[in-house]
Amino acid sequence: MIVKQIWTANAYRNFNYLVACGETGEALAIDPLDHEKCLRAARDEGWTITQILNTHEHHDHTGGNDAVVKATGAKILAHRNAVDKIDGMDRGLAAGDVVRVGKTVELEVLDTPGHTMCHVCLLAHTDAPALFCGDTLFNAGAGNCHNGGHPVELYKTFSEQLARLPAATRIYPGHDYIENNLRFTLDREPDNASAQAMLDRLAGQDPGKAYVSTLDVEREVNTFFRLTSPMVIAKLREAFPDLPERPDPRTVFVKLRELRNTW
Ligand SMILES: [Zn+2]
Repeated sequence: MIVKQIWTANAYRNFNYLVACGETGEALAIDPLDHEKCLRAARDEGWTITQILNTHEHHDHTGGNDAVVKATGAKILAHRNAVDKIDGMDRGLAAGDVVRVGKTVELEVLDTPGHTMCHVCLLAHTDAPALFCGDTLFNAGAGNCHNGGHPVELYKTFSEQLARLPAATRIYPGHDYIENNLRFTLDREPDNASAQAMLDRLAGQDPGKAYVSTLDVEREVNTFFRLTSPMVIAKLREAFPDLPERPDPRTVFVKLRELRNTW
């Protein structure tokens, strides 16, 4: 499996992806908003885009579909419940489905509601597993829930699915928000040395050559995986004085998500 992360350099800071089979040169384009960059990258590599995967229905993820279909005839794949939301969908996906690219790439579909209620992530089961996670999980952060999502559902996706993936899983999110997110982590946990070291290292990085984290790194620097940290809870109580003595992780997640919206 060959992964090409494409930095759009737009105001929303989107990442697009090409996932290709090294044997056949067939490629899957994930959320190819910047269709020109995606088509050019495929041409430069000698790849043929045969499928488009939309992680979810928001326009900054689907807006390149028409141009890529017109240029390549690629089929559009997305969550099966997105059929009324995404024009021209060819295949509706459910949890456990497999997306094949060429001969060598198999991606498992995870049904991951929360950012929207028809959001999928793709999990590659290779030597170094990889997760294409759209707007569900970001480096050091979590997707928002105010355009058709729900924070309790997002919490369930994090705790019941993402947290259980292999530690070495490489994280490929839909946006470059790492710097802002690390600042939020440090606002919540000022003594998080890993987050501070990462911010020192990555502040001002070229997103065209972005750092790729893993799930075990996210467990250290992503507040939304650190729901039982005493400092996260103590600091959260400053904002929400009614927080119980031992809040359950779901409550902590929902309150953190609320706080992140105002931050
Ligand atoms: Zn979105």
